[in-house]
Amino acid sequence: MQDRPEGVRQGLEVPPESVRLAQGLSWEDDWFAVGPIDEGTLAIGEPAYHQKNWSYLISDGGESLLFDTGAGRRPIAPLVARHAQGPVRAFPSHMHFDHLGGVGDFGPVLVADLPMLRAVARDGVLRPTEEMHLGYVEGIVPPEFPVGRWVAPGEVLSVGARRLHLLHTPGHSPDSISLWEPARNRLYAADFIYRGELYAQTPAASLPAYLDSLDTLLGFLPEQVWILGAHGQTEGGMDDIPRLGHADLVGLRDTVATLLAGPAHEGARTLNARMTLLYSEASFGA
Ligand SMILES: [Zn+2]
Repeated sequence: MQDRPEGVRQGLEVPPESVRLAQGLSWEDDWFAVGPIDEGTLAIGEPAYHQKNWSYLISDGGESLLFDTGAGRRPIAPLVARHAQGPVRAFPSHMHFDHLGGVGDFGPVLVADLPMLRAVARDGVLRPTEEMHLGYVEGIVPPEFPVGRWVAPGEVLSVGARRLHLLHTPGHSPDSISLWEPARNRLYAADFIYRGELYAQTPAASLPAYLDSLDTLLGFLPEQVWILGAHGQTEGGMDDIPRLGHADLVGLRDTVATLLAGPAHEGARTLNARMTLLYSEASFGA
């Protein structure tokens, strides 16, 4: 039998030759693919990884912000350096392992100023707990990394002339954040909403928190909002930048509200061709 890399044996890697990239995307190597979204915005995908991660590089005026640092099975930093404008600040969307993989390669990082994250930082160094990180499912130990700055929910980050509003959007996880860029009508939602099986069955996921976050977002986001998530494929099984829209937020909100009106139970609810919500009995709790 041919000797295969460990990741392939574990089913964590997808042979790149079996991946079909959507039009407009290109392979960077045999692991990462990139797709331009518009001037200064690059989607960075990992279609050869079973979780089909997407991170976003947001650049302007000689500086860049990296929203999520990849799954960490391959270093994302060299790719980011090739495409970034000037210095790069990394900002993890939440502490799950598949969003924090390359965090150690970006120096002090931006971290959402949330009590649960302050509680696991000491002397300016943050180490997520196993429950926040969940890396044990793939044999990954939580990293330690320096906090460059705590960014409060509601704060507006500048990247050159671009303005990104930090929103706390718990639901998928209690520490999930999204970035809202009004000038481009775009929500970078990471794992709050993405394509495929949307995880609300993981430890610390909460349907009541999801409902609150969805009501808040739907209270101000325009109907034409573009949403960029952190995982997923097209309905036809192609790898593409996971784009969603306002109707998907409404669909998720209505599904969560319907579930919460009934008894707690474990299950999966298909919202539309793009998403299926997975939940556990525990996710009916706060
Ligand atoms: Zn996650």
